[in-house]
Amino acid sequence: MNVEQRKIVSKFGGSSLADAGRISQVRGIVEANPDRRFVVVSAPGKRGSGDIKMTDLLVDIVQPKEQQRFENPLRQFDSRWKSIGEGLHQEDVVASLLDEVHAGIGRGREEHWVVSRGEWMTARLLAAYSGRRFVDASDIIRIDETGKIDPESYQLAEDVLGDEEQGFVIPGYYGQDSKGEVAVFSRGGSDITGAIIARGVNAFVYENWTDVDGIRFTDPKRVPNARFVDQITYAEVRELGNGGSEVLHPDAILPVKRAGISINLRNTFNPEHHGTMIVNNRSSGEDEQIMGIAAKEGFVSIQVSRDGMNEEEGIVGRLLAPFHRHGIAFEHIPTGKDSVSVLVHESNLTNGHRATILEELGDSLEPDHLEVVSDLGLITLVGQSIRENHGRVNQTLYTALDRAGIRTNSSISRVDGNSVVVGVIDRDVTPAVRVLYERFSKLE
Ligand code: ASP
Repeated sequence: MNVEQRKIVSKFGGSSLADAGRISQVRGIVEANPDRRFVVVSAPGKRGSGDIKMTDLLVDIVQPKEQQRFENPLRQFDSRWKSIGEGLHQEDVVASLLDEVHAGIGRGREEHWVVSRGEWMTARLLAAYSGRRFVDASDIIRIDETGKIDPESYQLAEDVLGDEEQGFVIPGYYGQDSKGEVAVFSRGGSDITGAIIARGVNAFVYENWTDVDGIRFTDPKRVPNARFVDQITYAEVRELGNGGSEVLHPDAILPVKRAGISINLRNTFNPEHHGTMIVNNRSSGEDEQIMGIAAKEGFVSIQVSRDGMNEEEGIVGRLLAPFHRHGIAFEHIPTGKDSVSVLVHESNLTNGHRATILEELGDSLEPDHLEVVSDLGLITLVGQSIRENHGRVNQTLYTALDRAGIRTNSSISRVDGNSVVVGVIDRDVTPAVRVLYERFSKLE
């Protein structure tokens, strides 16, 4: 493999950089592999529960006094940085960086400049501390007026970072808008910076270092110690919903996915663990495996029935019209021969919407029967080849639930893309997830 193919972009999240000890650990990780040439950093995050992220302190500084959440945010910012400087024997570097931040605030620099100073200071400090070159994100990252990636950034990343052999440190989260002012992505946006750079330099892999070993097979609140997944596809991560987006900013996926670059989620506090690899296609042999289970309670099914109803033209349109009118998002529309239902999450049915919707459906569809069933849960099994193998997966799944005495609701269950969705009553959700985890999560 030539040098070109081994470029690694390594992005470190806030908890990985929260104090001097952790920053020194990050330097160790970066130095352990010479291919880790492009390091992207967040601002120092929480050192533990109850702590405050540096970015939150900065957000407070730009708020009017009466809306500030913390006492003396600038003083807290300074004292945390000073202790980081002392811990790393970089007192002078930190002091001069703080001077620049204070001067900018004093001159009334724009809000985005202020809130991005955590990333800027971290990158400047880590560059000094690890003997790498600092490159300002404003020279690479372009952000459009909606706060999203301006594609010009990819070329800039290639131009600015592409050819050189040395190591770089680049601050995450911010860049420049079309007027040349500093602009930030939404919160958690350093992931996006890393993805842009990975695509721009055509990285071999985009490492994203946080404080967990990767993506879990299912929510550990339902299955304590649920195992981590070694390899998962981008499509599967998306279908797992929370599973993926909790670890990564959703806008960080597309740039690398399109370029065929894998993301390796890693744990700064357990660097020996290989983490989870997110890839475009899972290697064969694992084709049939289920890669994760997502679940959610609190769905409501509104079912309308009348003989011959589904032969009428435009019936689904009429059924959905009241939902559109009131801006209510729905999950799924299971249809039967003489009935159609709409599955909605109860959080979308507030403010007396339920009664209004039922009344409007009654008027427009004149059903024989209108039934509302609440407290339904949905469990989603995700796996890249489910569509081809759904017969077998369904059989295993229903047999397992049946043996455990868990009844499923066939009218809301379905196969959908890379997933099988099963409906059960709310209180059976966690027991069902446990049964399915036992059945599907074991490595062969
Ligand atoms: N520091 C920013 C935040 O706290 C951006 C990031 O960490 O990615 O949201």
